[in-house]
Amino acid sequence: MSFSCPHFCPDEEHCLRLKTDCVPGRRGCVLEGRAVFAVPADVRVREKEEEKRQRRLEIPRDPP
Ligand code: SF4
Repeated sequence: MSFSCPHFCPDEEHCLRLKTDCVPGRRGCVLEGRAVFAVPADVRVREKEEEKRQRRLEIPRDPP
C-alpha cells in the first residue's frame, strides 16, 4: 500500500484504531468518505475476510 496512516500497523496490516484489518475507507476509518477508491471498501472488506477464511482452512490441524 502506498499511503501513510498513524493507525496502521505494518506488521500484520492491522488497524490500531479499529482493531481489525486495515481496509482504507472502511466504516470507522479516518479516510471514510474522504477518498475515492476503485473498489468499494465493503467489497474489499469481504475479500479480506474471505482470504482469512481460506488461510484458516489451509492451516493443517494437529492429528488427534
Ligand atoms: S483502516 Fe483506515 S484508519 Fe485504520 S489503519 Fe487503515 S487507513 Fe488507517
